[in-house]
Amino acid sequence: MRKTELTKLKTMLQKEKEHLDKELDHFESLLLSKTMKEAGGDLSSCTTHKADQASDIDENQKLFIIMERVQKRLKDVDEALSKIENGDFGSCRYCGKKIQLERLMAKPHAELCIECREEMDASENNH
Ligand SMILES: [Zn+2]
Repeated sequence: MRKTELTKLKTMLQKEKEHLDKELDHFESLLLSKTMKEAGGDLSSCTTHKADQASDIDENQKLFIIMERVQKRLKDVDEALSKIENGDFGSCRYCGKKIQLERLMAKPHAELCIECREEMDASENNH
């Protein structure tokens, strides 16, 4: 891989990281404000809005699921960035072969080459 390509990928990853950080912040404050509101003890809503409370819990769970996804993505991006620092970026985690540059440009935090990814997808679908 040429240095210019690596620099480009690094920039893409840093932008992605920034974006994910912001997203996570956004969801965290959303969750926090919801929790504060619930802990605020608005008595009038306690008995009359049971249905609303149930949907609130659902919404919180959805938020947690989204946040988990964002955190996982952030971890992938972080790992890819540290791999760039260590100079072992761009190798497939599974077979060790070089990941296609096209693939990295489309998905800089990819850990698997296309062959391994497809193999894994196929085996996941077999379950
Ligand atoms: Zn592979």
